[in-house]
Amino acid sequence: PLVLGIETSCDETGIGIVRGTTLLANVISSSMEEHARFGGVVPEVAARAHLEALEPALRRALDEAGIALGDLDAVAVTSGPGLSGALMVGVGAAKALAVALDKPFYAVNHLVGHVGADVLRTEGEPEIELPTIALLVSGGHTSLLHVRDLTSDVELLGETIDDAAGEAFDKVARLLGLPYPGGPQIDRVAADGDPTAVRFPRGLTLPKDLERHRYDFSFSGLKTAVARHVEKLRDAGLEVPVADIAASFREAVADVLTAKAIAACSDRGVPRLLLGGGVAANARVRALAAERAAAAGVELRIPPLSLCTDNGAMIAALAAQLIMAGREPSGLAVSADSTLPVTTVQA
Ligand code: ATP
Ligand code: MG
Ligand code: FE
Repeated sequence: PLVLGIETSCDETGIGIVRGTTLLANVISSSMEEHARFGGVVPEVAARAHLEALEPALRRALDEAGIALGDLDAVAVTSGPGLSGALMVGVGAAKALAVALDKPFYAVNHLVGHVGADVLRTEGEPEIELPTIALLVSGGHTSLLHVRDLTSDVELLGETIDDAAGEAFDKVARLLGLPYPGGPQIDRVAADGDPTAVRFPRGLTLPKDLERHRYDFSFSGLKTAVARHVEKLRDAGLEVPVADIAASFREAVADVLTAKAIAACSDRGVPRLLLGGGVAANARVRALAAERAAAAGVELRIPPLSLCTDNGAMIAALAAQLIMAGREPSGLAVSADSTLPVTTVQA
């Protein structure tokens, strides 16, 4: 099926077009720069930016795919989880298009969409390799999933109990005087630092934590530890070794993320790990994941970055899977749900 996907859950306005598992267009317009001076995504600003970006992005996507609106078989949208006002813009637009074109409407889960992105990299191959463990790490999420069936069987193994990993990168960057978004900045600066300079805490990895929170994450203690460390140096009038701190912080995050993801693969007997979300761009996360996956006999898959960060193509791809599995369209009464659980693949 020829499917249009609309993604507006955070600061990216994404319009994607797929035919089955083939990617035809993936247009992304981000309002990230507008949020820079606030050091994080401002919901109201993001929602307004989606309103402005949607129509031009849609035109560009149709152009890229070389199709007309009337050619579409279905219209899909992220209905949650995400920022309420931002989601509403996309859901409203998708419903309007579906009604005007008289085409089926599919409201899908953003997090499962991140996993769905993976079907697009194996062009011509309709089947995603399942089951898989998926680690989704972005500015808003840090979730570990066990995906048995993309359209009907997604289990949430664990998630962050406080800050998301990307959020921690952004906050620590700010503390070190680096601009927003902090993830890429820390990654860049850390390349020249010593990752063993400071031993920062690894959240929820003590034996007592592992009992209750084996697959959960915590990054707020790590962020506080970095803040204290920097504060102490400044109070003592010492220079802050930004590269060493960035490298040590990055090491702590990569260590916990990859250790827990690989543990899930081993515990569940699932020899596949999929990374998704903006933090999957992190050089150390990628390297350590590759190293540990190889040691554990786990196949590591990381979709291309344009499909890892928020985009509309992954939403279209997931909806195409639902259609191919014979799923009925969503009702037009479905609306944005900022806390849509990951077990609800289609709203
Ligand atoms: P959502 O959480 O709803 O998916 P988001 O906009 O936060 O939305 P992404 O756009 O996928 O998600 O990811 C952005 C996050 O990824 C930011 O927090 C950013 O700092 C982080 N990030 C991007 N590149 C890197 C990197 N190289 N290393 C670490 N973090 C990174
Ligand atoms: Mg984003
Ligand atoms: Fe996302």
